[in-house]
Amino acid sequence: MSDNRIRVTVWNEYGDGQKKPPVSDVYPEGLHETIAGFLNKDKGITAKTAVLSDPEQGLSEDALNNTDVLVWWGHMNHHLVEDQNVARVVEHVLRGMGVVFLHSAHISKPFKALLGTSGHLSWREADERTRLWAVNPAHPIAEGVPVNFVIDHEEMYSEPFGIPEPQTTVFISWFQGGNVFRSGVTFQRENGRIFYFQPGHETNPTYHNEVVQRVITNAVKWARPCIRSSGPVSVCPNDQEPLEKL
Ligand code: ZN
Repeated sequence: MSDNRIRVTVWNEYGDGQKKPPVSDVYPEGLHETIAGFLNKDKGITAKTAVLSDPEQGLSEDALNNTDVLVWWGHMNHHLVEDQNVARVVEHVLRGMGVVFLHSAHISKPFKALLGTSGHLSWREADERTRLWAVNPAHPIAEGVPVNFVIDHEEMYSEPFGIPEPQTTVFISWFQGGNVFRSGVTFQRENGRIFYFQPGHETNPTYHNEVVQRVITNAVKWARPCIRSSGPVSVCPNDQEPLEKL
């Protein structure tokens, strides 16, 4: 029997700060395990986890070859991700692997390498209320998601956001302090689909929120590769055999 489930790797830097309170109060096993846990409740998905301290930082050729969609969470240790592993992630996305960047992944090395911009924004840790709006409710990532929904406590991220013009803006967010942010945006780089989603500060229970879980589950399904080239994308073959007579 063939297994047609989407193979997801949830990658988290999982630094020391995540292994003690207040983060461990919210995510005792690490937020990557919480995310993989709700993804695995979907019969169409099989999710495993990887962390920075794994061999080859959890980003080996074999690991990525067996990943349809990579989910990425990082914050304090972006600089520790080795450039060769970043290049490998980028190569796999260009071939067709999907990737979902969460929260502070907006300045992770693979995010910046894929988008070519700074990823910069302004931020405030004040546990403020945020209301997300599905500005494209017909998009597959918004399926089953209320047109607007509230997260009671989140870190504020504000425009201007240093990204290219998105392929689709699926969500925008309003924050209690008055800021707004393009909080759910899609891109495509060659064969690979990319989604960025803002909620998910590590001291807030955001990944326990069922609406957030629905968005991330939808995003994984949307980002599943349509096609995936087996070889490197950097090859430009000389096409010697024209299809028509010259
Ligand atoms: Zn944060």
